[in-house]
Amino acid sequence: MVQYDYDVVIIGGGPAGQQVAYGLAEQKRILIIEKDLWGGTCPNRGCDPKKMLYGVVEAKRQTEAFQNKGLQGVPEIDWAAMMAFKQSYTDQIPSGTEAGLRHANIHHNHGTARLLSDHALDLDGEEISADKIVIATGATAAKPEIPGQELLETSDDFLNQTTKPKQIALIGAGYVAIELANIAVSAGVTVHIFQHNHAILGGQPQAYTDELTELLTQKGIIFHWDSDVTAVEKQDRSLVVETNQETVAGFDHVYSAMGRPANVADLDLAVAGVKLAEHGGIQVNDYLQTTAANIYAVGDVAASPAPKLTPVAGIEGRYVAQVLSGKIDKPIQYPTIAHTVFAGPELAQVGVPLVEAQAHPDRYVINDQQLGAWYTYMRMGDAHAKVSVITDKQTGIIVGAVVLATNAEEVINYFAEMIGQQQSADVLQTWVPVYPSAASDLTYLY
Ligand SMILES: Cc1cc2nc3c(=O)[nH]c(=O)nc-3n(C[C@H](O)[C@H](O)[C@H](O)COP(=O)(O)OP(=O)(O)OC[C@H]3O[C@@H](n4cnc5c(N)ncnc54)[C@H](O)[C@@H]3O)c2cc1C
Repeated sequence: MVQYDYDVVIIGGGPAGQQVAYGLAEQKRILIIEKDLWGGTCPNRGCDPKKMLYGVVEAKRQTEAFQNKGLQGVPEIDWAAMMAFKQSYTDQIPSGTEAGLRHANIHHNHGTARLLSDHALDLDGEEISADKIVIATGATAAKPEIPGQELLETSDDFLNQTTKPKQIALIGAGYVAIELANIAVSAGVTVHIFQHNHAILGGQPQAYTDELTELLTQKGIIFHWDSDVTAVEKQDRSLVVETNQETVAGFDHVYSAMGRPANVADLDLAVAGVKLAEHGGIQVNDYLQTTAANIYAVGDVAASPAPKLTPVAGIEGRYVAQVLSGKIDKPIQYPTIAHTVFAGPELAQVGVPLVEAQAHPDRYVINDQQLGAWYTYMRMGDAHAKVSVITDKQTGIIVGAVVLATNAEEVINYFAEMIGQQQSADVLQTWVPVYPSAASDLTYLY
């Protein structure tokens, strides 16, 4: 029998890779490899730092909502202090993550892994063999192939921007662009968004994205619709953006936020027989196995049918750990996964998409409600709050929801739980949440 150096080598020390490692630590000889920051995208340059900044700008927005209702004067955001606050958290992530691995006796190495075959990889010049390999290398920000590409920055740079810019541009209008734009504009930065079509947050229901676009426009974000950025150049000390429509000058930074393709550049997948899926990402089957039978892919890098989010990375990592330790032999099953865009207010969605429910009135009942006058939202000055709740016509079971509101991130979790438990509205009759709270409104939402 072939003796490998390790039972399992995991490439990538983000949420997905770590879940595999912790799940196997006690049964297998494992090694986890990270080339950059231990902890990966989410805690270092994604969800967590972004939400620390969001907390600050949301406090300002709430203060604005209470003007002449007991509060006078809106605080200014101190950009440098806000970023230092964020840094106070992110600074300790890599060392804290590594300490956790050490504590759990998990072999871990810093370096860049490259596949040599389906059982071997190169770690900065050292050859390592493994019975199984798990690829958990995440995703990276895409940049358009245009003149001036080298001048473009990404969300990583935005989240490390220690001095306040005067004017910035974002290319793209997905959730990363919208969330960063909201933080910047709330902090007093002039923000332009260049979007190739005429909508933000592709895939989200238009009635909601239109409302959110209106709110963001009122905050001061300047949208350039149907704009393909064709070049970026430096003029004196600022940047100029050229599009198919116009030339706009005077930017301190231009951030590319056009999506996050799988991070596979270093891996040399072909030598190991690992193939990419048609629309990017590593092709995997229902067991998260790649086209090389003993190599698995989890998290953002995998072309699995789930959204690219931290909880999904965790679920996939834990699942593969169970497969590799022989505890499970069934295909992966995803629970109901909610998603929130932190745009001040939040736009949250879960379950059956609204467009699908609208297209099948024979199967679904949709209850749309404007919530602005409701006590909870009136109290917070959230005049635009609204919700759509989708139920199955036959069973009365809740199957989907969209919420645009302050604290939608919490409300959507209740819906996710109800969908996951396949509960009908009746169950709320026996549920006693705190009153008054966002949860206590649920009884009236459908
Ligand atoms: C700005 C931003 C905001 C986000 N906000 C949210 C949010 O609010 N909620 C949410 O759920 N998700 C959010 N996400 C997405 C979330 O961060 C990812 O879904 C999650 O981090 C994926 O985990 P992962 O382990 O698959 O990949 P990652 O966290 O990206 O980890 C992959 C790791 O692999 C390493 N690596 C890559 N190649 C190699 C190699 N060859 N050798 C060794 N190591 C390698 C990388 O350095 C990286 O550390 C956000 C992302 C961004 C960018």
